[in-house]
Parts: sequence; C-alpha cells; structure tokens
Amino acid sequence: MSYRYRCGTCRATSEPVATRRAARAEQRWHRAREHAGLIPDDESIEPDDEHTVGSGGLLLAILVGCLIVEALYRITGP
Ligand SMILES: [Zn+2]
Repeated sequence: MSYRYRCGTCRATSEPVATRRAARAEQRWHRAREHAGLIPDDESIEPDDEHTVGSGGLLLAILVGCLIVEALYRITGP
C-alpha cells in the first residue's frame, strides 16, 4: 500500500510514497513551503491503490514466469 498527500487548496498531489509517515512528511514540507506553515483547507492523505503492486500484480508475475518456463521446456524438452 502506498500513500499520497493531497492539497485541495493548491489542487496538487504528491508522488506516491511507501508509508503514511512519509506522506505526513510530504504534508509538513508542503505546508511549510507553500502555506508558510499554515494548514490549508481540504488536505488529505489517501491510500494510493493505483501504484501499489499488491497480491494481484505478484500473482500475475508468477503466472507469467510459469508460462515462460513451460514454453522453454516445450522448446528444449524431449
Ligand atoms: Zn497547498
């Protein structure tokens, strides 16, 4: 699971980061830099499913790996 910090005031979203703690660091940095340390309205830290390699992606990678091994076996096999 990765996370993104989103500032609704600036209509800006951070790059996805690995942890919620890292997203909070993005939040602090953004507040300090863009809002002089003030808390902007409508900001949030959101889970980012789009950039997460979850179990679905891992299963797909294993499946593709098996298919490649099987194809190689058929080509080089008896
Ligand atoms: Zn902002």
